[in-house]
Amino acid sequence: MKQVKNISFRKCPFCDNQKGRFIINLNNTDLLRCENCSMVFADIPKQNVLEKNIYDLDTFYRYLQKEHLITAAYYDQILNKIIRHFKTPKLKLLEFGCGSGQFLLRAKRKGIEAYGSDFSPYSELAGKEFNLNIETKNIFETEYSENSFDVVFSHATYEHIYEVNAVTEKLKQLLKPNGLMIISGVPDFNLLSRRWFNNYHVNKPPGHVNYFEKKTIRKLFDNHNLTTLNISSYGIDIWFIKSKILSIFRKKNTPKNIQENQISKGKKNIGKFKNATQNIKFLHKVLALLYRSIGFIIPGKSIEAWAIKK
Ligand SMILES: [Zn+2]
Repeated sequence: MKQVKNISFRKCPFCDNQKGRFIINLNNTDLLRCENCSMVFADIPKQNVLEKNIYDLDTFYRYLQKEHLITAAYYDQILNKIIRHFKTPKLKLLEFGCGSGQFLLRAKRKGIEAYGSDFSPYSELAGKEFNLNIETKNIFETEYSENSFDVVFSHATYEHIYEVNAVTEKLKQLLKPNGLMIISGVPDFNLLSRRWFNNYHVNKPPGHVNYFEKKTIRKLFDNHNLTTLNISSYGIDIWFIKSKILSIFRKKNTPKNIQENQISKGKKNIGKFKNATQNIKFLHKVLALLYRSIGFIIPGKSIEAWAIKK
């Protein structure tokens, strides 16, 4: 039986409980499972999380160094599903944690009225370079109006945020009644590479501080009176498989000038993203579908969750 600890720096992000069961220590931070609601989180001071999770302008180009066509296909599939849900693309969508704007670009291309929110400076550049409506502010200081969005979408962001409840409540306020809240791309804590090999890869504090499972995402929705439509686990831990294969051949990454290379690659690539006109090839569509479907068989790498504001 794992040791029960008093939570030192943070209350449980779901239920404010102050006791948790110790799981592991990563980067000098304890991962705890709340004794009350079973949410897993990093016990860490707020300041450390803020410092780590505000990204500078260079990050914009680093994210553009390679066009991930399977991710683009995945975004398109989510957007198609949203359009099918409302039976029209005449929608107002907010992406919370919009980063370098790739999802917003694809949403715009489908005829959706798309807005972004991100507190990192690199999003400002995404707004300028891609001509997107992006607010570079803390969500609690947003100028977007309450009850104004049909969809609030958030991808690979919820694992980074400190005040999970307050953010969720704020996003819910921005949604119209019957609006959709979609959380995707958050790592599934039950993924096999973690359970079998204790592998956390980049899924560590102070970057990642919340560790979701399907059951805890459902609780989050319940706590905020959002009606769950669907929660699924998808994807496989490609990074883990790759690192295992590389370790067989004893290849090591040489991080020589790696950052500068990433930035210059991103700068060269920007046109591709700007147009966002490329059609996703059949192969990438199929791969994205397979990637999303694998969670039906085994716990996947990430979770995708849909809820409705009643
Ligand atoms: Zn709790």
